[in-house]
Amino acid sequence: MYQPEPFKIKMVEPITLLARPEREKCIAQAGYNPFLLRSEQVYIDLLTDSGTGAMSDRQWAGLMLGDEAYAGSRNFYHLEETVQSITGYRYVLPTHQGRGAEQIIFPHLVRGGKKYVLGNMHFDTTKAHIELAGARAVNFITPEALDTTTDYPFKGNFDLEALERFILEHGAETIAAIVTTVTCNSVGGQPVSLANMRGAYALGQKYKIPVIIDSARFAENAYFIKQREEGYAQRSILEIVTEMFSCGDALTMSAKKDGLVNIGGILAVKEDEELFRACQALVVPYEGFPTYGGLAGRDMEALAIGLKEVVQEEYLRQRIGQVEFLGRQLQQAGVPVQSPVGGHAVFVDVGRILPEMPKTQYPAHAFAVALYIESGIRAVEIGSLLYGRDPQTGEDGLAELELLRLTIPRRTYTDNHMRYIADAVIRVCEQKEKIKGVAFEYEPPILRHFTARFRLVD
Ligand SMILES: *Cc1c(COP(=O)(O)O)cnc(C)c1O
Repeated sequence: MYQPEPFKIKMVEPITLLARPEREKCIAQAGYNPFLLRSEQVYIDLLTDSGTGAMSDRQWAGLMLGDEAYAGSRNFYHLEETVQSITGYRYVLPTHQGRGAEQIIFPHLVRGGKKYVLGNMHFDTTKAHIELAGARAVNFITPEALDTTTDYPFKGNFDLEALERFILEHGAETIAAIVTTVTCNSVGGQPVSLANMRGAYALGQKYKIPVIIDSARFAENAYFIKQREEGYAQRSILEIVTEMFSCGDALTMSAKKDGLVNIGGILAVKEDEELFRACQALVVPYEGFPTYGGLAGRDMEALAIGLKEVVQEEYLRQRIGQVEFLGRQLQQAGVPVQSPVGGHAVFVDVGRILPEMPKTQYPAHAFAVALYIESGIRAVEIGSLLYGRDPQTGEDGLAELELLRLTIPRRTYTDNHMRYIADAVIRVCEQKEKIKGVAFEYEPPILRHFTARFRLVD
């Protein structure tokens, strides 16, 4: 039976679709870069699912219970108990967001000649903090992840054989940590199975390497395990979540995703007191006193409540179901998308829609520009523009896949918005010969996609 949203709407934020000539003007003024649009020029914003979700009435009520004491705020203890009960970890530190947790744990892990941090696929800020700490981030994603056409159920998995081979070749003493990212953001919000998480943890134990769980979308990962992994259909989401976290020694979390808040993060350590003390020492100068870590008391309260809401199965059924609903409409119309559809976004394989367009004209970015003009929807390129140039040779156009990410904020848009998004993407595909590539007018030296300006190529 059709299952609608498990909530009703108590407050609304109006959104406006500008007329097409205005959209054409806005995107030209933004240098044909959707990142440079003002949010008010956007009708439906699919740039990211990070910090863009809607809080519940309970979370808003929680804001009023903020205890803004510098030390020992009651909201900290509520958050601490909640994290302890969900994860089974003993030590909890709040941080201002996910990267705040990364910047206080990696300097301690990367010490004494350690050179590598091994992941299924590192998120970009995680990679940056590993490199800032002086180590190299190496990926061991399962090969199935790179083929968008196969229906492999756990495309976020490690290639565990390759992981162990690397440890044996380079010596366990050179490895600072193993990072398990759930779901694996960088390959499209794809889940990691519990069998695979257990395998990575067993390797960590065998070679005495700490395992860190990068857990921004831990609840979405648990839902996929319940749906797809043998033996878990009858288990509760909370049981699966707790079992996932048993496969790690510490966690970092961007609470802007499955924390269901607009800002916040967490670092937690299972039982290693020395590791916790080291993180606690760094949290003070970088984030704040250990009982607030860069968050207001009210933020911690909203987060504690959000963590309880996100593990409710009816919430997750609608959340994952909505992303799948969008993906299915596109697939039925013959639009190539990463399959199976991930937890937080639908990835359109623009490389297969515009095979003739040179990669140096950034086909998926060109598609994003056309989509904004057609519909007022803002989406984001995950392809050669984001990838950047080879630092040695300056060569460009190097990404394996040219993807357009339609990222769905949590509890924010309705299924009717999904229908509008699908129709707009399908219309742009039908007129694909009209899509113009882009060329730089201004190319920043690093992280170029955020602030670059372009012109359309004829
Ligand atoms: C968003 C994210 C981060 C970084 O968190 P911020 O809250 O943006 O600082 C780290 N890892 C993963 C997997 C993420 O999705």
